[in-house]
Amino acid sequence: MSFWEKLRKPCSLRGGAKQISVDAVIPLFAIPTLAVIAAQAFLWTLFIFLATPILVYYLHHNFLRFLLRTKFFLMWTITSVLFLMIIFEVSVVPLLEILPEENLIFIVCVVGGIWCGYETKLKADCGTQESALIQGLELGEGSGELCTTCRRRAPSRAYHCRLCQTCILNREYHCRWLDCCIGSSNLRWYLFCLFFSAFAFIYGSNLTMTSVCHPFILIGTILLPDDCSDVYYELDIALCFVSSLYSLLVGMVLLCYFLYHLWLIYLGTTSNERRLLLAESPYDHEMVKNVSRLFCCKT
Ligand SMILES: [Zn+2]
Ligand SMILES: [Zn+2]
Repeated sequence: MSFWEKLRKPCSLRGGAKQISVDAVIPLFAIPTLAVIAAQAFLWTLFIFLATPILVYYLHHNFLRFLLRTKFFLMWTITSVLFLMIIFEVSVVPLLEILPEENLIFIVCVVGGIWCGYETKLKADCGTQESALIQGLELGEGSGELCTTCRRRAPSRAYHCRLCQTCILNREYHCRWLDCCIGSSNLRWYLFCLFFSAFAFIYGSNLTMTSVCHPFILIGTILLPDDCSDVYYELDIALCFVSSLYSLLVGMVLLCYFLYHLWLIYLGTTSNERRLLLAESPYDHEMVKNVSRLFCCKT
């Protein structure tokens, strides 16, 4: 812990004008390094894809969770998006297998995803600031139940977030990958963000795979990869292949989250309320809880 404390001490840049903590810088180096290692051979790809979630979980469990608001996961998101975008535009597009309109659709979805993600975070931060302001003005006053943590009266469907240090109306969870709480103030933007990002990741992955692997025609201009056995002969082609696998995995997870939230809206509840309901139920949901903790969001 003392080693980590030393490490995470903010290092000053340009005479202390800006402060960046070490945990936020790790993804900047980790993602390109892991991608290059994974691009060496198929077994390396398999190893990196299995080892990285375990490594991130280990890092989170032993170090990151002791920091109140680590930027590690947000930086992981930003670095991943930038890295995949650069690989696509620099290595995949020059292969001339992609139509200009396919590239345009991809770029529009990426920009849409980034914009909605930015709005999600902006709306969450505004909500938190407003709550903090009200909290300072009317401690223990107002209507609703008294929150035992921030000692403020909150509306009936508001739940306290330990990381945001305030109560969030219709709180879903604290999304580590965007470093903000998802609640009624930003759920709409979050859903758009999930939809655009899921589409961009899966579509980008399909375009990349069908460019570097031997493709076959599914319908019209929609292709699927067929034979990917010779992608490891050149490093840049291998990097494209690895990034497309990563992109596909992330896209599938985001799609699942999007569908999960649509289902919750259909049920008229939130994931936080569902979690509380599950905690009261006699069945053991320990495995579900552990998996959700590992993959996304702090409940
Ligand atoms: Zn509270
Ligand atoms: Zn939060």
